[in-house]
Amino acid sequence: MLSSARDTAIDADVVIVGAGLAGLSAAHRLTAAGVTVAVLEAAPHVGGRMATDRADGFRLDRTAQLLNTSFPELLRTPGLDALVLKPFTPGVLVHADGRNQRTAEPRTAKRAFTTARALATAARASRAGGLDQARLGTALGRLAALPAHRVLARPDRPTAETLAGRGLPARTVEVFLRPLLASLLCDPDLTTSSRCADLVLRGYARGRLCLPAGGADTVPALLADLLPPGTVRTGVHAKAACTTSVTTAEHGVLRCRSVVVATGARAAAELIPGLRLPGFHPVTVLHHTADEPPLREASLIIAAGRHGPVAHTMVASEVDPSRAPAGRPLITSTVLGAAAGLPLAELDRAARAQLARVYGAPAAGWRLLAAHHDPEAVPAMPAPHDGRRPVRLLSGLYVCGDHRDTSTVQGALFSGRRAALAVLRDLGIRAPQDAEELQAA
Ligand SMILES: Cc1cc2nc3c(=O)[nH]c(=O)nc-3n(C[C@H](O)[C@H](O)[C@H](O)COP(=O)(O)OP(=O)(O)OC[C@H]3O[C@@H](n4cnc5c(N)ncnc54)[C@H](O)[C@@H]3O)c2cc1C
Repeated sequence: MLSSARDTAIDADVVIVGAGLAGLSAAHRLTAAGVTVAVLEAAPHVGGRMATDRADGFRLDRTAQLLNTSFPELLRTPGLDALVLKPFTPGVLVHADGRNQRTAEPRTAKRAFTTARALATAARASRAGGLDQARLGTALGRLAALPAHRVLARPDRPTAETLAGRGLPARTVEVFLRPLLASLLCDPDLTTSSRCADLVLRGYARGRLCLPAGGADTVPALLADLLPPGTVRTGVHAKAACTTSVTTAEHGVLRCRSVVVATGARAAAELIPGLRLPGFHPVTVLHHTADEPPLREASLIIAAGRHGPVAHTMVASEVDPSRAPAGRPLITSTVLGAAAGLPLAELDRAARAQLARVYGAPAAGWRLLAAHHDPEAVPAMPAPHDGRRPVRLLSGLYVCGDHRDTSTVQGALFSGRRAALAVLRDLGIRAPQDAEELQAA
């Protein structure tokens, strides 16, 4: 602990603004190094965009978060070893031409490159539907084996412009690659940097898509629970930040040695004038329930061909039964792009019509449990994208969050770790293991 009788004028060595994944990840690294930390969170709960609402026994994610077992920070972040991941088994289905086609049957959760191998296996099992799964499996296998630095050395262009040059038949690109990437990047027009898309696709090929058991908010809750009691203060809104203090709406000025702004991109730009404000991809998540599950398997269904507003859908209660009361299915669907901004009644009507086709079951009688629209859900990552934006602005002032890295859970956690390391360096505290890991990452 740095702060002591030496300096009673400070409230904590480091004040972190924002208790999303980035702020909590930074708090962990700092408290582990013996630094006193106060995390200020404006909302009444931790987790930021990883929020889960509870209603009638359902656990309703505001984000319908897809995690990947290959996200390195899920393994490296203290506290997340207790995270239970529920994989999509048998895997991903693509809905195209009025039917669902299986694309992969991963065999084990932990084996790297499983998806790529499974695609090659699937090619032998199914040659119907125009999906050239053998070539897809080979392409993904190659990407899975590529070290991250080789991916990052590739030219960076809008992803949509690079799809034709991937050595895959046009049909496979349109039916599988384009809609998969749109879903993983929350970007239906694929303006995202091709390097980011390659990294995300590489992760897909190396690991398994899954949901966090119990809802998205279990991830931040695990992190918050391991911090020293009193570290996180919810319901505290930061109005201004500088290198030595944070001014709050509720508790006046908190003094410190360093400040880490770990809010979303817009709030960070308000607290730190001059900080770049990215564009955003909007997302709406719809939660329905029905009398019967429309599908009795834990698959993620990707909708190809833009035949409705829904980009992907799942019977979430089949993947993670804890998300619904016994006997009640939870169907969770994600809408991207302009369709996400449609008036709810219109969106729900169009989504039900599409979902009835996707599941091959009438959806008119389903009950809409909740809809969550976030116009600034995911910071855009157009090419050229710098996936390691500086987190140290000045000695004493740092910024982290998905907008400094990649717009994912992995990016948010990693940016928090980078910020904590920068703080420790400036405070003269060595964190050798972290420094080595960051070099290698
Ligand atoms: C709909 C949706 C779908 C997504 N899907 C996926 C996905 O499938 N896979 C994936 O990996 N990622 C996905 N993401 C992205 C992922 O959720 C985010 O990248 C990650 O949660 C961002 O964490 P963060 O800590 O950077 O920011 P946030 O979660 O935004 O945390 C910032 C925190 O700062 C607080 N705050 C803001 N201003 C102040 C202030 N002035 N004072 C105090 N506190 C303040 C906020 O209340 C918030 O709690 C999705 C996001 C959304 C919204």
